[in-house]
Amino acid sequence: GWVNFTKFFDHIIDRFEMTIEEHITFQRDIPSRSYYVDIDEDKITQVLYNIISNAIKYSPEGGKISFRIKEQPEKIVVSISDQGVGIPKNNLSKIFERFYRVDKARARNLGGTGLGLAIAKEMVEAHDGEIWAESKEGKGTTIFFTLPYEQEQEDEWS
Ligand code: ATP
Ligand code: MG
Repeated sequence: GWVNFTKFFDHIIDRFEMTIEEHITFQRDIPSRSYYVDIDEDKITQVLYNIISNAIKYSPEGGKISFRIKEQPEKIVVSISDQGVGIPKNNLSKIFERFYRVDKARARNLGGTGLGLAIAKEMVEAHDGEIWAESKEGKGTTIFFTLPYEQEQEDEWS
């Protein structure tokens, strides 16, 4: 159904913010305007949950997690950035594969199955969106995904 993505995203971030430890800080760079997108709310909640859990899991002590929405023609670009360990360049495309985990030894300590991002990719693509990652080792990671958004639909709402 049609959802005001700005509000929806803000609400999900609020829920995470209540549960995180004090050493992690959240920063929002979200426009105040509304973006109406036609999504399955449960599925996109799962996408955000999987991405944000990783950002928290791989964040260092005192790390900042940034949340953004950027508008592009016919789509919004949603991104979540952390200041964690990062991902080596040649592993970057593989993190969306099922059961793939960078550095198995390190990953084992943190727990998980390597499915979170594969599920996120499947769900984003089912919404005609794209998902990708940018990362610098030792600096941090940003996960981006897009959702189609129609300006015309918007006009009917206002
Ligand atoms: P699961 O999500 O199933 O609990 P997981 O977190 O290991 O397990 P994914 O979420 O699919 O699996 O992520 C795959 C791998 O990509 C991770 O094991 C980790 O190596 C790497 N990765 C994902 N997000 C980040 C991040 N924000 N910073 C650093 N590495 C990451
Ligand atoms: Mg995960």
